[in-house]
Parts: sequence; C-alpha cells; structure tokens
Amino acid sequence: MRLRRLPEFAIASVVLLAVCRAEPAAAEPCSLAIIHVNVLPMDSERLLPDRTVLVWRGKITAIEPAARVRNRHCGMTVHGAGRYLVPGLNDMHVHIESLAFAQAFGMKAAPIDYPSEMALYMANGVTGIRVMSGAPDILAFRDSQRGTLSPYPRLVVATPMLAGNPPVLPEPVTKVLLTPESAREAVREFKRDGYDFVKVRDNLSAPVFRAVIDEAAKNGLYVDGHISMGQGLSVFDVLRSGQKAIAHLDNLQLLMKDKVHDPDTYIQLLRSCGCFVETTLQVEANAYAQITDYDRLIQRPELKYMHPLILNAFWRKPNNPILKENADPAFWRSLYADEKVLLKKLIDGGVHIVAGTDSLNPMIVPGASLHDELSSLMEAGLTPYEALKTATANPASYVPGFSDVGVLAPGRAANALLVDTNPLRNMDTLRAPDAVMINGNWMTRSDLQRKLDAAASLYAKL
Ligand SMILES: [Zn+2]
Repeated sequence: MRLRRLPEFAIASVVLLAVCRAEPAAAEPCSLAIIHVNVLPMDSERLLPDRTVLVWRGKITAIEPAARVRNRHCGMTVHGAGRYLVPGLNDMHVHIESLAFAQAFGMKAAPIDYPSEMALYMANGVTGIRVMSGAPDILAFRDSQRGTLSPYPRLVVATPMLAGNPPVLPEPVTKVLLTPESAREAVREFKRDGYDFVKVRDNLSAPVFRAVIDEAAKNGLYVDGHISMGQGLSVFDVLRSGQKAIAHLDNLQLLMKDKVHDPDTYIQLLRSCGCFVETTLQVEANAYAQITDYDRLIQRPELKYMHPLILNAFWRKPNNPILKENADPAFWRSLYADEKVLLKKLIDGGVHIVAGTDSLNPMIVPGASLHDELSSLMEAGLTPYEALKTATANPASYVPGFSDVGVLAPGRAANALLVDTNPLRNMDTLRAPDAVMINGNWMTRSDLQRKLDAAASLYAKL
C-alpha cells in the first residue's frame, strides 16, 4: 500500500512545485528591478502597462505585471511609474575613429580612447553599432569587452573597405584588391584577425568581387557594402551574387536614375536574396545642410564630445569633401527627396530595412544622428512603429550579431532606455533618455553627462 501511495505523493509535489513555478521568476536572483514601468517591447505594436522588469547577469529575466511581482529584493530598484522602457537603439552603419584614419591621411594621433569614443552613442541611447570600416585598434577594444558585462555599446566590426583602383579612401582604411588570389588571401587574413563581416566598396572587378563573395562564404563571413560596379559587374550581378546587404539607399536610388529599371525589379531581387538595406539618409540631409548652413552645423555644442581627428580631416573647411567636390545643394536636396520615396516603396514591398546614419561622415554626429535618421524615416512615410523597428527589432531579425538585442523579452540582453513619453507618440523623447542600460549596467542622465564631460576634457587637450 505504501509503495502505491508514494507515487501519488510524488505527483502532488510536482503539481505543487509547478504552481510555485508559475509565480514569475520566484526564486531567481536579480541585480536590478525596474518597477511599475510601461514597457514597449517592440516585438509587435503593443504597450505593456505597469510592469516589473527583472535583470540578472546582463539579461532580462522577467517582464511581468507589477502586481504579480511583489517583495522582490534585487540589488537595485528603479521606480519607473509613468515612464517607458524601450529597447536600446542600434545604428547599423557608423564609422568610428581609428589609427588607420590617421595613417591614411598622414596625420599624427594619440591612441584612440574608445570609452570616450562611445560617450556620444551612450548618451543618445545607442547601445549597439556596426562599424563599417574596421581597424586593429577597434578590434582590440571590442575584444577587451568580450566575456564581460560591458557598459559600452555592442560593436560589430567590418573589415577595412575592400576596393579596386582607385579607392575612394587611401589604405589602410581601404584594402585595394586587383586579383582574385589577393582577394582570397585578404579575406582569409581578415577572418584570422577576427573581423565580423566583409565590407566592399567601389571598383572591384567582376573576378575579384566574385572571389571576395566566395572566400567570405567559405570563412563564415557575410558581405555588406556598396554596389561595386567595377569592370564587368552590373547591379543585377551584385544583387544575385550572395552579397548580404546594401550599405546605402542612395546607391540604389542613383542606379535608378537611368529609368531603365523600375523599383519593383529591385524589390524582387532584394527580397529573393533576403538582403537588408541600410538607410543612411543623413548623408544627403547633412550634405545639403552643410552647403547651405555650414556655420550653424560646425558650431553645434555636441561637437566638443567628438575626437578632433575626423573633425579636422573631413568636417572643417577647407578639407570638407562635400564643400569641395560637389557643392550643389539642389543635387543633394533632390537625392534626399527621391531616396525617401524609394524607401517607402521598399518598406511596402517587404524589403528588410535597418537604420544606419553613416556617422563621422561630414556633419553626421555619432549617436545624435540616429534620432535625425528616425525623423527622416517618418518624413518618408513610415509609421513611428515602423521607424523605431529599423533601429530595434529589425537589426535583431536581420543582422548577424544583434539577435539577442532590439526587443525587450526574457532571455534578451538587458539593453534599454528609460524615457518620459511613449516614443510612438513623440519620438524626440529618445533624444534625452533618463537612463540607459547596457548589459544590465544602469546609467542615469548624470552618469552619461559625466562620461561626455570626460570625453570633452580629453579631446580639448589633443
Ligand atoms: Zn559608411
């Protein structure tokens, strides 16, 4: 009899245990609780009111109705009543300082202080960036954060830009490739160095381009970049080649100027390759703005938080290439307008779109420019939700290296912003977050201002 009763008791225990487990995250430890906060998870267009969000070891462990999670004693408690928790923003096309830039332009530079380099991104709520022109010192900083709960934005880093002759930017920012053999060797070497993906720029010949695509695939790297229409390559060759991403909308827009191909042809090709496109509308918006309003842009107070290297090499007169080469504001204004029309067609056609700013290009301020990009996307006709997705859920869905960010859910990285207003009602609230969290590190507005001030005082001495 006893033997027969034991299993019943055991079953009852399991049921009891299951009931206890239904209480959210009952026994798990937590380093941070954000209580009574409205959560915009960005997994669909919904708002979760009055939630408690628990964080442990850099990850979100629970998002539950606040009334169900009581008496939790975490390392730290943040009162979020009346405020909104939003996924941290991700800029999928940036450039950051490196000694490679100094070398390429024959300038002297002290080693780059990457924590200072990150301050503008962090203060603007940008918790992940994809660097489109990699260099050894950038990789070293990325690697120094590996395996830690880093308070700095996630860095995913491209190879130096692979290009034919002549390159737009000199080596070592660019790697000039003239034969398929040298292309294969370069890709293998960049793989050994630890770069995350391959960046292609202009003028690669067809055999060299195909060698890059093939060798990258063999080495588990994907290829992103310009539509490199060197000898023997058409835009359609590129879109059918296996290249995973197109770095600029303007690339596509300028190719359509010939009026031979309608957007539907491109939409079909971009959909069938499953490619993603970076928006980078700030290039055209800022090109126009600096031709017509240079003095205002160069005097913006946030420029004191920027390293002087690129400012001096590209932004100021007389070195500013936009002012030198093509100072026709009408060209940039109409390109910007046309790109917005194209963007809306691509979105409606189901093409994968991710927000990118091309920051460090002349007048494109790191971090702050991502908010300008989101404004441009809404000007193009995207809804606030569609626009915000391009910097949150879309990178998570489409871009290798970001799959665990961009959406607020248990198991995802604890990268988020606390803001005063629902950004779907007023996107500008994201420009000045009350707090920014990266890998569970909670940084208030004043913490972030201290980081900016430290960067400014360092840069003032250079
Ligand atoms: Zn770029």
